[in-house]
Amino acid sequence: MQNKENSPLILIVDDTPTNIQVLAEALRMDYRVRVAGGGKAAFEIIAKVGAPDLILLDVMMPDMDGYEVCRRLKQAPETKNVPVIFVTAKADALDEEYGLSLGAVDYIAKPFHLPIVAARVRNHINLKIKTDLLESQAMLDGMTNIPNRRRFDETLESEWKRSLRSGAQLSLVMADIDYFKRYNDNYGHGVGDECLKKVAASLALSVERPSDLAARYGGEEFVMILPETDIAGARAIAEHFRSRVESLHIPHEHSDASSSVTVSVGVASVVPNADMLPAELLKKADEMLYQAKESGRNRVC
Ligand code: GH3
Ligand code: MG
Ligand code: MG
Repeated sequence: MQNKENSPLILIVDDTPTNIQVLAEALRMDYRVRVAGGGKAAFEIIAKVGAPDLILLDVMMPDMDGYEVCRRLKQAPETKNVPVIFVTAKADALDEEYGLSLGAVDYIAKPFHLPIVAARVRNHINLKIKTDLLESQAMLDGMTNIPNRRRFDETLESEWKRSLRSGAQLSLVMADIDYFKRYNDNYGHGVGDECLKKVAASLALSVERPSDLAARYGGEEFVMILPETDIAGARAIAEHFRSRVESLHIPHEHSDASSSVTVSVGVASVVPNADMLPAELLKKADEMLYQAKESGRNRVC
């Protein structure tokens, strides 16, 4: 197993301490384990440490029953993909059918046989790891290995909502390689691809905060989403990126902007309100990019 800090996190939710103790002790050998004595406590733990990789859930609990906990987990975007296994004394076929209909992946009857619980947990954790991997790959651009358009669209949507709630500024940066058609025509598509990879790596290095996103928008266009960043901050980051690309010194004989590969960059900021759409911020950044192109390229507008 990997070292303990990155090992999968399992949340056990049960109001009967003896049940939990046996289970938790057995699972602690291979996993990080958190224990909650009821539904409310479970959601508090999730709010604090983030979504676990698997939840073992009792059904009969005083504050909120396990079915209700499962229903809420499956409704929230952060937890809807977390596998839930019911571990319960309510074990006739109808109960089991109901539990599975709520989206649980498995149903284990109490009293349980510990090695069987451990084996089922292992199977579901392994599946979860594979699903997570596939999902993260689906959000990456295959060539440049940075987040792709799909990830960008999803992140813009969620950061937009977050800014709506918090009232914080949201900034967007759009960049486009200068005279890249001529670059391809002159050096060939393969060399063009290598150039795109280097520019993408520079873009990824230009964002600093964990909440920032640097992505390939398509073709030779790149974007950054900068939450809680005002126009001056966004401009500074955009300028970092522009100068980073310039100092790669990738020769480009046919550029009218420089002797090497450069990018033009547009920046826009907004405090979102309910009457606005994310597309408007995108349009604004695109207009700024157009201005950067029109006013000579290799610059930030
Ligand atoms: P401008 O300075 O106005 O942006 O001019 P440009 O030539 O960069 O713009 P244009 O949109 O005319 O051309 C973009 C070029 O980018 C055309 C296309 O061949 C190239 N391109 C887009 N995606 C890829 C890719 O994945 N690999 C390579 N090698 N080239 C790409
Ligand atoms: Mg373009
Ligand atoms: Mg271009």
